[in-house]
Amino acid sequence: MPDCLFCKIVRKEIPARLVHEDEEVVAFEDLNPQAPVHVLVVPRRHVASLNELEPGDDALVGKLLRVAAKVARERGVADPGWRAVVNVNRDGGQLVFHVHLHCLGGRPMFWPPG
Ligand code: AMP
Ligand code: ZN
Repeated sequence: MPDCLFCKIVRKEIPARLVHEDEEVVAFEDLNPQAPVHVLVVPRRHVASLNELEPGDDALVGKLLRVAAKVARERGVADPGWRAVVNVNRDGGQLVFHVHLHCLGGRPMFWPPG
């Protein structure tokens, strides 16, 4: 998707602080972190939101979660705890329409979320 911000990060057309990269998934630091650990995990392939997932994407979604857990482990927040968040569309607070998993940690998370 030519004009998608996260596709541009995946293609390295705009800079990001990458923390993981493989053939399917890229993870990078959020530009405006909401917690001491705030990493975004995205598929290389453009998928606008969770609403657009298809049955063939099941393994990809599992990969996003597993990479987020790996990042949490590497950052030392796996045991104290962390949060995985995916915002979907307007009411979900989605601002970038390339599906991404927020990996948040390093402070207590609250419930209910805002
Ligand atoms: P969402 O509201 O779930 O769509 O989250 C979008 C996230 O992307 C926000 O947390 C932003 O801080 C983050 N973001 C926006 N632009 C960039 C960028 N160029 N590099 C890294 N993170 C970004
Ligand atoms: Zn995209």
